[in-house]
Amino acid sequence: MERVYNFSAGPSNLPVEVLEEAQAGLVAYKSSGMSVMEMSHRSADYGQIIQEAKADLIDLMNIPDDYEVLFLQGGASLQFAMIPMNLRKNGKVQYVNTGAWSKKAIAEAKKLGMEVEVIASSEDSVFSYIPKIDASMIDEDADYVYITSNNTIYGTAYNTLPNTKGVTLIADMSSDILSKPVNVADYGIIFAGAQKNMGPAGLTVVIIRKDLIGNAADGVPTMMNYKTHADADSMFNTPPTFSIYMAGLVFKWLKKNGGLTGMQKINEEKAAILYDYLDSTDFYRAPVAKEDRSLMNVTFVCESDELNAAFIKGAAEKGMVNLKGHRSVGGMRASIYNAMPVEGVQTLVEYMKEFEAANK
Ligand code: PMP
Repeated sequence: MERVYNFSAGPSNLPVEVLEEAQAGLVAYKSSGMSVMEMSHRSADYGQIIQEAKADLIDLMNIPDDYEVLFLQGGASLQFAMIPMNLRKNGKVQYVNTGAWSKKAIAEAKKLGMEVEVIASSEDSVFSYIPKIDASMIDEDADYVYITSNNTIYGTAYNTLPNTKGVTLIADMSSDILSKPVNVADYGIIFAGAQKNMGPAGLTVVIIRKDLIGNAADGVPTMMNYKTHADADSMFNTPPTFSIYMAGLVFKWLKKNGGLTGMQKINEEKAAILYDYLDSTDFYRAPVAKEDRSLMNVTFVCESDELNAAFIKGAAEKGMVNLKGHRSVGGMRASIYNAMPVEGVQTLVEYMKEFEAANK
């Protein structure tokens, strides 16, 4: 069966080797005689799958011992609520507004009665840059400072972290987790929905410093308390078994392919192919401030909506799909996560050149 180059922002493409491996064991996993989908999450076979996935993630991200890795459900969106529910001390929190996903997180914190200060925002220019955070903006009494490390819709990313003067930093890494090494110790919580760079939807990974667990108020529902899941090693209830299995295969694929340092190199190479071309032409415009460009989501536009539509249609005819920008910004967006091969990006740029020549 023919595969396309899938530039979807998420759920997005997975490494073919991973899909093939899952396919080989889909009906009967190893000697178990059943699919991973059919297995009890308490079985020995599944115990090994989930523990290996956790160990491989710890290894890949070099996660220190004083952090817990949780495999949860509810999407990144549930974390927007779980974070304020679990980290409330003074009730004051600081957010950086870099787009729709930050805004949703801000709305949840407000709903939960937190005193939310938006310390910086790039809403004034359709979130086309990452606002500068000065240490003087940080309130040392804040329970945490919250950022969205990569903004999937607009194609911006933090290329340097704000100095939060020791206040706990929380990062939504849904669209750039595992794309490059990060120093986990810089963060109190890193969280991400799996469906962009880790595996299929249904799994949410939370990496949390252990001292932030166990502080939720009595009224916090059991399933929304990090302690519930930490105490039960992500087995309080049935975890998203198949999604964890698939993410585990992706972790092994990453380890085999140079780990996160290797990924960063390839991701920089892929992004440079696109950005270098965009910088060399006036036919397309790349709206994001250069220093805040994302390695994962590359946004660009033609001069008119008609040209954008023709570009997207022509690309699909050539086997490059899901290049339409988010409905709130229009234009094009190429999501080039870990699983997108260099050839996919090269093919896209070849097509961009042809389209330019034909429509200039
Ligand atoms: N944060 C970011 C940065 C995202 O891109 C997304 C999904 N597109 C979300 C949060 C929401 O994730 P979920 O659908 O897993 O709730």
